Amino acid sequence: MELDIDWALRWLALAAEAMAEHREELIELDRPIGDSDHGENMDRGFRAVTEKLADTVPENPGAALKLTAMTLMSKVGGAAGPLYGTAFLRAATALGDTPEIDAATLAAALQAARDGIVARGKAESGDKTMVDAWTPAIEAAAGAASDGGDVRKVLQAAAEAAEAGAVATDPMLARKGRASYLGERSIGHRDPGAVSSALILRAAAKAAE
Ligand code: ADP
Ligand code: MG
Repeated sequence: MELDIDWALRWLALAAEAMAEHREELIELDRPIGDSDHGENMDRGFRAVTEKLADTVPENPGAALKLTAMTLMSKVGGAAGPLYGTAFLRAATALGDTPEIDAATLAAALQAARDGIVARGKAESGDKTMVDAWTPAIEAAAGAASDGGDVRKVLQAAAEAAEAGAVATDPMLARKGRASYLGERSIGHRDPGAVSSALILRAAAKAAE
């Protein structure tokens, strides 16, 4: 099995659904350690992606991800907009115009996305950001791919690791972004961007089922 444009379109539709469904949860997570806008930002951004895709049909997964990147950059705002924009753009560049994505290419594209987030935001693992979802995700994805897992296995592994990574941000002290202004008081709260990242990766896995 390989991933094609239909998978990419299903992924983006499921991600938009997840952002709408989890909008309030993301707002509540961003309340104690941020400014309560993450759910609104992500829902607005992915709704705009859905609208764009209603009148533009991208030729390949890379083109779909590039359109997503441009839309998220212009619609999400805040810290998350440019970070997700960079992630989707780097993934799109890694895919180029390939019509079919195999496991190794997929793992490389996920790695490119994570590297883009790190290049843009300069957060390290343990800083209590979305990087704490993405880094375990790409490690699990690379592991699944090198064990001979197919694209479905790679995405399952990435989603599971991202979800665990988001939970693992609870006891962390925030060192980047708005939450870092709280210092010790950021401890005991889950990072909203790590949760939205896990939702996006779970949507990718569901789209391949
Ligand atoms: P803002 O903080 O501007 O209100 P959002 O609420 O939309 O933006 O997004 C906040 C999320 O962005 C955080 O939960 C965190 O995951 C992520 N984030 C913030 N700064 C960084 C950074 N430097 N590197 C990686 N992720 C970051
Ligand atoms: Mg916020």
